[in-house]
Amino acid sequence: SGYPWQYYRRSSTGDHASWIVYAPGGANDRGQRDSGSFVQYMTKGMKPITGYGNCSPPSAYHELGPGAPFVPMLERGGAREFPASQVLTYKWHLDPPLKGCVFPQYEAVKDRVRHFECEDCDRYDMWMLDDDMETGMACFRHLRSNTNDGRHEYSRREATLILKEQGVPFSAGRFAAIAEELKRMEISGNADDLQAVAKGTQESD
Ligand SMILES: [Zn+2]
Ligand SMILES: [Zn+2]
Repeated sequence: SGYPWQYYRRSSTGDHASWIVYAPGGANDRGQRDSGSFVQYMTKGMKPITGYGNCSPPSAYHELGPGAPFVPMLERGGAREFPASQVLTYKWHLDPPLKGCVFPQYEAVKDRVRHFECEDCDRYDMWMLDDDMETGMACFRHLRSNTNDGRHEYSRREATLILKEQGVPFSAGRFAAIAEELKRMEISGNADDLQAVAKGTQESD
């Protein structure tokens, strides 16, 4: 259809909570819109964001890079709407799609930012907040994965230690418990106990 797209905020719970997205459903100058899409996105728990205008369908930004469809909103002062987790995932705190753009929600928590850079490959570079267990677990799985090139495939214990060293948060109850236990034993210097814990981590998923 020839209708514009518009910005929405995702639901405040679940995956990518409160992230800003662009999707069909924007109104044109005569107030007409693709109301089927509009209703569909509302039903999915997305809230339309008004006040920063619309955007064009993504084909209009094809040559301009992944952040380009957000630029019309950023040009109208919409940076404040973006949650810190989205800014970090897009690495906009390093390279904003609009030059000089500052993201207040990120600025407010930037002392809680963590960074994971895989030493086995150059392409895995993740930014997250210190309570973002989801991203932390993705880093954990990355280290554990078998890439068939002699890299990664770390044991649970090694992956745990690497992530702790880089200050990456991850939970999954059992892993957190193991990490704590390892820390405790390293402090007490009991190497035999360390082995026992490492064995205990060999359980399958
Ligand atoms: Zn890697
Ligand atoms: Zn990096």
